[in-house]
Amino acid sequence: MQLSIVIPLYNEAESLPELSAWIVSVMQNRGIDYEILYVDDGSTDDSWKILSDLCRQNPAIRALRFSKNFGKSQALHAGFKRTRGQWVATMDADLQDNPEELPALLELMRSEGYDLVSGWKRKRYDNLITKNIPSKLFNWAARKTSKIQLHDFNCGLKMYRSEVVKALDIKGEMHRYIPVLAASAGYNRIGEKEVAHQARKYGTTKFGPERFLNGMLDLMTVHFVSRFGRSPMHFFGAFGVLMFIFGFGGAFYMGIDKLFFNTTARLITDRPVFYLALSAMIIGTQLFLAGFIGELIIRNEGSKERYTIAETLNSSTDS
Ligand code: UDP
Ligand code: MG
Repeated sequence: MQLSIVIPLYNEAESLPELSAWIVSVMQNRGIDYEILYVDDGSTDDSWKILSDLCRQNPAIRALRFSKNFGKSQALHAGFKRTRGQWVATMDADLQDNPEELPALLELMRSEGYDLVSGWKRKRYDNLITKNIPSKLFNWAARKTSKIQLHDFNCGLKMYRSEVVKALDIKGEMHRYIPVLAASAGYNRIGEKEVAHQARKYGTTKFGPERFLNGMLDLMTVHFVSRFGRSPMHFFGAFGVLMFIFGFGGAFYMGIDKLFFNTTARLITDRPVFYLALSAMIIGTQLFLAGFIGELIIRNEGSKERYTIAETLNSSTDS
């Protein structure tokens, strides 16, 4: 099997037949050995019924359904675990991404030996205020913190070497920064290709304005985790110890001063330095503990599934 196409979807019933037919025709024309893996992220419309029909008609189409809406990252995670192809592509289900781009992406992966190639929707057909401008800002911030020179981190259309998706553990809302996660896992041969983009034909966007704030917070998490995730003590511990030393030094100085030099002066507790020293020692201890607990946690965490699958189709050989 050459290419697995993972497609997360949430209430995209109208688009599915058209999308499937389009992908199948592109794959057949190019003679690519493919599978399509739909991940129904708890749709409440007819999506699953339509997927059942598609799976019955074409054994190259597989599908699984979540018991409820767990989010795009979880859907990708479930899809990635089940791919059988040598290469893995992802695309959105809403017909905004163009399947005709897939052969060219595959060609680029092969000829350049990339770990992943990300699409770049240079000309975008989305709302300017709620999508395009915030997205430019995100991408700028992501480039600055990750040093990965991509224009469009969150493009739904991407292609990977199989090994890369098997190694990635995408959770929460981290699908926005997959290239950053991949690079921090050591898969840093990352390419970019301009891709065609269409306006949404059916249905509406599943991500509201809150994507802006969430995206920024996730970016901070990704940045922080990739720098200190393997050694939280190096961050918290360092700050904690510094603060404690600062506080202890202050308290020590006041003690010596009171005992030997200014014995008749005001009470230690009347001096502002006392409160500074006290807070610094308490906060320092807390930070140190946070680092220590972080170290204990990373020694215990496995890669857990954070979703429940209700049904699967055409997947008898699932691992
Ligand atoms: N999606 C999903 N789970 C969700 C939200 C979205 O699987 O909770 C899918 C959605 O059906 C689509 C893709 O993720 O296939 C991108 O979503 P959308 O088109 O709404 O995002 P936009 O293009 O507006 O950024
Ligand atoms: Mg879309």
